[in-house]
Amino acid sequence: MKTDPGHTLITINSRPDAVMAQGQGSWLVDEGGRRYLDLIQGWAVNSLGHSPAVVAQALAAQAQRLWNPGPAFYNRPALDLAQRLVELSCFDRAFFMSSGAEANECAVKLARRWGRKARGGAHEIISFEQGFHGRTLAMMSASGKPGWDSIYAPMPQGFAKARLNDIASVAGAITPDSVAVMIELVQGEAGVVPADPGFVRELRALCTERRLLLIVDEVQTGMGRCGHAFAHQVYDIEPDLMTLAKGIGAGLPLSALLCKEEFNCFEPGDQGGTYCGNPLMTAVGLAVVNEICRPDFLATVRQRGQQLSQGLQAIVREHGLVGERGVGLLRALILPTDQAEEVVTAARELQPVGLLLNAPRPHLLRFMPALNIDAAELDEGLRLLGLALRRVLG
Ligand SMILES: *Cc1c(COP(=O)(O)O)cnc(C)c1O
Repeated sequence: MKTDPGHTLITINSRPDAVMAQGQGSWLVDEGGRRYLDLIQGWAVNSLGHSPAVVAQALAAQAQRLWNPGPAFYNRPALDLAQRLVELSCFDRAFFMSSGAEANECAVKLARRWGRKARGGAHEIISFEQGFHGRTLAMMSASGKPGWDSIYAPMPQGFAKARLNDIASVAGAITPDSVAVMIELVQGEAGVVPADPGFVRELRALCTERRLLLIVDEVQTGMGRCGHAFAHQVYDIEPDLMTLAKGIGAGLPLSALLCKEEFNCFEPGDQGGTYCGNPLMTAVGLAVVNEICRPDFLATVRQRGQQLSQGLQAIVREHGLVGERGVGLLRALILPTDQAEEVVTAARELQPVGLLLNAPRPHLLRFMPALNIDAAELDEGLRLLGLALRRVLG
């Protein structure tokens, strides 16, 4: 019997036997030399593809200069990155961390701190059914994934649930203890479910009227993924707090919380962390921001998003599927049956090159290519997807 290559790792889920060895742009190569066109990119994390030269250079240069003065001191890359993010957005202040869950926890802490200061101790966060905000205990409570309220019980309290695109459900969840609403404008793990523009405008107005902070979790949707720097710009609203992770680190651990000046209310010692704002990671973030701010970068993302959408629509017609949806380069294809995992396997096993796809739901495939994937690579991905679908659906 063949030994699982992961037999000395703690089991978290089943993975294919391939051991990934190299990555370049939209391509991954395993130890056996097999090539894969990667439309997962570490779950929308590798915003510039595998091993992008601009990031490798920023990392190498910073590695020669300074890694860790410690969070007790300022460092230049963190200051510069905060400055760039503030210029790009409606926010005034940034705090850097290492993961999306950590940034969302920080948003909840800041909201509760503000609730203590300005709202008489209000502390409850309203989040959404099917939402995903990370895997710490509190973020599992904030998430609306079925089953997540019990598998590690007892869970942290103070998270009420509303339904996406149902403003009455949000209004109905508000109590005197409510301090904030936390939302993914496009629910990623739920299967790329975009919020309706009208709902988002009403939500902004409701939050203002009831003095609730609007926290947008842009861990997956931010940094160009939806064709603009941030997804809330697509919706033309200004949130009060925003979290970023995934794409801002281009595959390395970097996340951020941004807030408007009036919510800059941590007392000294309230918040911190060993790796918060270290110059090695913030230098990477700066390289990513500079890249997505290059002329035409975001316009090209929007074009690729169109190309992917049209290609998926053609596949929907050809195979009689249910449809496709998404914003920019975060898209999903909806199958008529629960065969998404079979398509994922068939695509990975295609010869001579495999295609890497993700199935967040049993009937749905999600596409999160590198933001700089070229038109020919995307067409090749669509062609390989067609082959895999033919294998599975006949
Ligand atoms: C991935 C994700 C997170 C969690 O980020 P980690 O870096 O894995 O902690 C949080 N929110 C959203 C919307 C995500 O997609």
